[in-house]
Amino acid sequence: MTQNSSFSKGSLEIICGSMFSGKTDELIRRVDRARIAKQNVTVFKHKIDKRVHDTENFLTSRTGSKIEAIAVKTPEEILDYVKKHNIQVVGIDEAHFFSPYLVDVVAELIIQKKRIIIDGLELDFRGRPFAWVATLMAMADKVIKLNAICSECNDDTFCLSQRIIDGKPAKYDDPIILVGSEEYYIPRCRGCYQIDKKPDFTNQK
Ligand SMILES: [Zn+2]
Repeated sequence: MTQNSSFSKGSLEIICGSMFSGKTDELIRRVDRARIAKQNVTVFKHKIDKRVHDTENFLTSRTGSKIEAIAVKTPEEILDYVKKHNIQVVGIDEAHFFSPYLVDVVAELIIQKKRIIIDGLELDFRGRPFAWVATLMAMADKVIKLNAICSECNDDTFCLSQRIIDGKPAKYDDPIILVGSEEYYIPRCRGCYQIDKKPDFTNQK
């Protein structure tokens, strides 16, 4: 096995960005390279995430990249599986679907000298941080922030995940999690994004 400092110390890479920014593609690319390098890799996804072409045992990106994955309900299941199967490289897709306890699990995996690669939305459709994704970004060795392309003006510098219900922007007070990206979300830059209230960054509930 190739010597890699991440195995002697543990490491965390986090890939973030809005919907349609290519996060899952980047996760698959990174874990695929680790697999080609003969490292013991496992990718986890949340059971809540059932995309159009996804099956229980695979993670599929919108561009068609595909990799085997294990669907779990809780971060604890990741910890148990990694220990039982002596996994070296841990991929986790869509971190925002998990609970804040994901942070504790990732911290433990770093102590166990694992290389962890995570993707997730750092902001919800209202433009407020998912608290545990923001914490993971702060803990990470590397933060890879990707941009989608605005569906209105083709700006590619920064996009929010605009939720559209019945052809109109969703309300600020709607539920934060709504699974089903193609149907409900479009990427919009700061100039084109619309919502009925400004994000409240201090009242984190
Ligand atoms: Zn725009």
